Amino acid sequence: MWSTLWRQSLDLISAARCCACGNACERSTGGALCERCLEELALPEGGVQGDEPLLWCALAPYGGRLRALLLRQRPTPNPALIAALAARLHSCCASVLAGAVVVPVPSWKRAGNPLPLLLAQGLVAASAGQAQLAPQLLQRSRPTLGQHHLGRSLRARNLQGAFTAQAATPQPARPLWLVDDILTTGATARSAAEALQAAGHAVQGLLALARTPAAAPR
Ligand SMILES: [Zn+2]
Repeated sequence: MWSTLWRQSLDLISAARCCACGNACERSTGGALCERCLEELALPEGGVQGDEPLLWCALAPYGGRLRALLLRQRPTPNPALIAALAARLHSCCASVLAGAVVVPVPSWKRAGNPLPLLLAQGLVAASAGQAQLAPQLLQRSRPTLGQHHLGRSLRARNLQGAFTAQAATPQPARPLWLVDDILTTGATARSAAEALQAAGHAVQGLLALARTPAAAPR
Protein backbone atom coordinates (compact mmCIF):
# COMPACT_ATOMS: atom_id res chain seq x y z
CA MET A 1 0.00 0.00 0.00
CA TRP A 2 2.80 2.43 0.91
CA SER A 3 4.60 1.70 -2.32
CA THR A 4 1.41 2.47 -4.25
CA LEU A 5 0.97 5.74 -2.37
CA TRP A 6 4.61 6.59 -2.94
CA ARG A 7 4.27 5.93 -6.66
CA GLN A 8 1.11 8.01 -6.85
CA SER A 9 2.76 10.94 -5.11
CA LEU A 10 5.77 10.62 -7.43
CA ASP A 11 3.35 10.71 -10.37
CA LEU A 12 1.79 13.87 -8.97
CA ILE A 13 5.18 15.51 -8.60
CA SER A 14 6.33 14.51 -12.09
CA ALA A 15 2.99 15.63 -13.58
CA ALA A 16 3.78 19.18 -12.53
CA ARG A 17 7.20 19.26 -14.18
CA CYS A 18 8.22 20.46 -17.63
CA CYS A 19 8.94 17.45 -19.85
CA ALA A 20 12.00 19.13 -21.40
CA CYS A 21 13.94 20.81 -18.57
CA GLY A 22 12.34 19.04 -15.60
CA ASN A 23 11.72 22.29 -13.80
CA ALA A 24 8.46 22.79 -11.96
CA CYS A 25 5.81 23.80 -14.45
CA GLU A 26 3.05 26.27 -13.61
CA ARG A 27 0.59 24.14 -15.53
CA SER A 28 -0.58 21.23 -13.39
CA THR A 29 -1.65 18.96 -16.27
CA GLY A 30 1.87 17.60 -16.78
CA GLY A 31 3.47 16.39 -20.00
CA ALA A 32 3.73 20.00 -21.12
CA LEU A 33 6.63 22.27 -21.96
CA CYS A 34 7.21 25.16 -19.58
CA GLU A 35 7.02 28.75 -20.79
CA ARG A 36 10.80 29.13 -20.63
CA CYS A 37 11.47 26.06 -22.80
CA LEU A 38 8.85 27.20 -25.31
CA GLU A 39 10.46 30.62 -25.40
CA GLU A 40 13.93 29.10 -25.93
CA LEU A 41 12.72 26.76 -28.67
CA ALA A 42 11.03 29.71 -30.42
CA LEU A 43 8.73 27.47 -32.44
CA PRO A 44 6.85 29.53 -35.04
CA GLU A 45 3.09 29.76 -34.52
CA GLY A 46 1.37 27.32 -36.87
CA GLY A 47 4.65 25.56 -37.79
CA VAL A 48 6.32 25.70 -41.21
CA GLN A 49 4.97 24.17 -44.42
CA GLY A 50 6.01 23.58 -48.00
CA ASP A 51 5.49 21.36 -51.04
CA GLU A 52 9.04 20.45 -52.09
CA PRO A 53 9.84 17.68 -52.81
CA LEU A 54 6.45 16.62 -51.42
CA LEU A 55 3.81 18.28 -49.28
CA TRP A 56 5.20 18.70 -45.74
CA CYS A 57 4.50 20.34 -42.41
CA ALA A 58 7.02 20.70 -39.58
CA LEU A 59 7.23 22.40 -36.21
CA ALA A 60 10.14 24.63 -37.14
CA PRO A 61 13.32 24.92 -39.23
CA TYR A 62 16.04 22.54 -38.03
CA GLY A 63 18.49 24.64 -36.06
CA GLY A 64 19.31 26.27 -32.75
CA ARG A 65 17.75 24.87 -29.60
CA LEU A 66 15.40 22.52 -31.44
CA ARG A 67 18.34 20.90 -33.25
CA ALA A 68 20.27 20.48 -29.99
CA LEU A 69 17.21 19.00 -28.32
CA LEU A 70 16.51 16.52 -31.16
CA LEU A 71 20.16 15.40 -31.27
CA ARG A 72 19.87 14.50 -27.58
CA GLN A 73 16.53 12.76 -28.10
CA ARG A 74 17.66 10.36 -30.84
CA PRO A 75 19.86 8.12 -28.65
CA THR A 76 17.79 8.52 -25.48
CA PRO A 77 14.28 9.70 -26.24
CA ASN A 78 11.98 11.16 -23.61
CA PRO A 79 8.52 9.91 -24.70
CA ALA A 80 6.74 12.68 -22.74
CA LEU A 81 8.75 15.35 -24.53
CA ILE A 82 8.15 13.83 -27.98
CA ALA A 83 4.44 13.54 -27.11
CA ALA A 84 4.37 17.25 -26.19
CA LEU A 85 6.09 18.18 -29.48
CA ALA A 86 3.70 15.85 -31.34
CA ALA A 87 0.71 17.59 -29.75
CA ARG A 88 2.10 20.91 -30.91
CA LEU A 89 2.69 19.54 -34.43
CA HIS A 90 -0.86 18.16 -34.41
CA SER A 91 -2.21 21.62 -33.69
CA CYS A 92 -0.45 22.80 -36.90
CA CYS A 93 -1.99 20.09 -39.09
CA ALA A 94 -5.11 18.82 -37.28
CA SER A 95 -7.39 19.28 -40.29
CA VAL A 96 -5.37 17.00 -42.58
CA LEU A 97 -5.08 14.26 -39.94
CA ALA A 98 -8.81 13.78 -39.48
CA GLY A 99 -9.58 10.35 -40.94
CA ALA A 100 -5.96 9.82 -41.98
CA VAL A 101 -3.49 7.01 -41.50
CA VAL A 102 -0.02 7.88 -40.16
CA VAL A 103 3.03 5.81 -41.04
CA PRO A 104 6.42 6.39 -39.37
CA VAL A 105 9.43 6.14 -41.68
CA PRO A 106 11.19 2.99 -40.44
CA SER A 107 14.90 2.68 -39.65
CA TRP A 108 16.87 -0.15 -41.14
CA LYS A 109 18.64 -1.07 -37.94
CA ARG A 110 16.71 -2.75 -35.17
CA ALA A 111 18.02 -0.16 -32.73
CA GLY A 112 17.47 2.63 -35.22
CA ASN A 113 15.99 6.08 -34.76
CA PRO A 114 13.09 5.78 -32.28
CA LEU A 115 11.70 9.26 -32.94
CA PRO A 116 9.49 8.67 -36.02
CA LEU A 117 7.39 6.02 -34.24
CA LEU A 118 7.18 8.06 -31.01
CA LEU A 119 6.14 11.11 -33.01
CA ALA A 120 3.53 9.13 -34.96
CA GLN A 121 2.15 7.71 -31.70
CA GLY A 122 2.02 11.23 -30.26
CA LEU A 123 0.17 12.56 -33.31
CA VAL A 124 -2.41 9.77 -33.07
CA ALA A 125 -2.86 10.40 -29.34
CA ALA A 126 -3.28 14.13 -29.95
CA SER A 127 -5.86 13.44 -32.66
CA ALA A 128 -8.17 11.78 -30.10
CA GLY A 129 -9.08 8.90 -32.39
CA GLN A 130 -9.22 10.93 -35.62
CA ALA A 131 -5.99 9.48 -37.01
CA GLN A 132 -4.84 5.87 -37.06
CA LEU A 133 -1.31 4.50 -36.62
CA ALA A 134 -0.21 1.98 -39.27
CA PRO A 135 3.54 1.29 -38.96
CA GLN A 136 3.12 -2.14 -40.55
CA LEU A 137 2.39 -0.61 -43.97
CA LEU A 138 6.02 0.35 -44.63
CA GLN A 139 9.25 -1.60 -44.20
CA ARG A 140 12.85 -1.19 -45.23
CA SER A 141 13.65 -3.71 -47.95
CA ARG A 142 17.43 -3.44 -47.72
CA PRO A 143 20.10 -1.58 -45.78
CA THR A 144 21.20 1.76 -47.17
CA LEU A 145 24.27 3.88 -46.53
CA GLY A 146 24.06 6.52 -43.83
CA GLN A 147 22.53 9.56 -45.56
CA HIS A 148 24.20 12.43 -43.76
CA HIS A 149 27.48 12.33 -45.72
CA LEU A 150 25.76 12.06 -49.10
CA GLY A 151 24.74 14.88 -51.44
CA ARG A 152 21.25 15.31 -52.85
CA SER A 153 21.55 13.06 -55.93
CA LEU A 154 23.48 10.34 -54.10
CA ARG A 155 20.84 10.35 -51.37
CA ALA A 156 18.12 9.70 -53.92
CA ARG A 157 20.11 6.91 -55.60
CA ASN A 158 21.00 5.36 -52.22
CA LEU A 159 17.29 5.02 -51.43
CA GLN A 160 15.94 3.60 -54.69
CA GLY A 161 13.98 0.49 -53.80
CA ALA A 162 14.85 0.91 -50.12
CA PHE A 163 11.24 0.45 -48.96
CA THR A 164 8.50 -2.11 -49.47
CA ALA A 165 4.85 -1.40 -48.69
CA GLN A 166 1.90 -3.57 -47.77
CA ALA A 167 -0.88 -3.51 -50.37
CA ALA A 168 -3.67 -1.04 -49.61
CA THR A 169 -7.09 -2.32 -48.48
CA PRO A 170 -9.87 -1.36 -48.50
CA GLN A 171 -10.53 0.88 -51.50
CA PRO A 172 -10.55 3.80 -51.66
CA ALA A 173 -7.48 4.13 -49.46
CA ARG A 174 -7.58 6.63 -46.58
CA PRO A 175 -5.29 9.65 -46.84
CA LEU A 176 -1.84 8.64 -45.58
CA TRP A 177 0.78 10.87 -43.94
CA LEU A 178 4.38 9.81 -43.51
CA VAL A 179 6.03 10.81 -40.23
CA ASP A 180 9.76 11.43 -39.72
CA ASP A 181 11.70 13.43 -37.15
CA ILE A 182 13.71 15.56 -39.58
CA LEU A 183 13.03 16.35 -43.24
CA THR A 184 16.33 17.04 -45.01
CA THR A 185 16.41 16.68 -48.81
CA GLY A 186 13.24 14.60 -48.78
CA ALA A 187 14.96 11.70 -50.58
CA THR A 188 13.92 9.27 -47.83
CA ALA A 189 10.35 10.57 -47.77
CA ARG A 190 10.03 10.40 -51.55
CA SER A 191 11.40 6.87 -51.70
CA ALA A 192 8.94 5.80 -48.97
CA ALA A 193 6.08 7.64 -50.66
CA GLU A 194 6.81 5.96 -54.01
CA ALA A 195 6.74 2.49 -52.44
CA LEU A 196 3.42 3.26 -50.69
CA GLN A 197 1.85 4.80 -53.80
CA ALA A 198 2.89 1.78 -55.88
CA ALA A 199 1.03 -0.39 -53.31
CA GLY A 200 -2.13 1.70 -53.75
CA HIS A 201 -1.88 4.11 -50.82
CA ALA A 202 -3.02 7.71 -51.01
CA VAL A 203 0.15 9.41 -49.75
CA GLN A 204 -0.50 13.06 -48.94
CA GLY A 205 2.90 14.12 -47.67
CA LEU A 206 5.15 14.17 -44.64
CA LEU A 207 4.85 15.48 -41.09
CA ALA A 208 8.11 16.16 -39.26
CA LEU A 209 9.46 17.87 -36.18
CA ALA A 210 11.96 19.93 -38.16
CA ARG A 211 12.93 20.85 -41.69
CA THR A 212 16.52 21.66 -42.63
CA PRO A 213 16.60 25.14 -44.19
CA ALA A 214 16.43 24.97 -48.01
CA ALA A 215 19.69 26.89 -48.41
CA ALA A 216 21.67 24.28 -46.49
CA PRO A 217 23.47 21.83 -48.82
CA ARG A 218 22.58 18.91 -46.56
ZN1 LIG B 1 11.06 23.53 -19.42
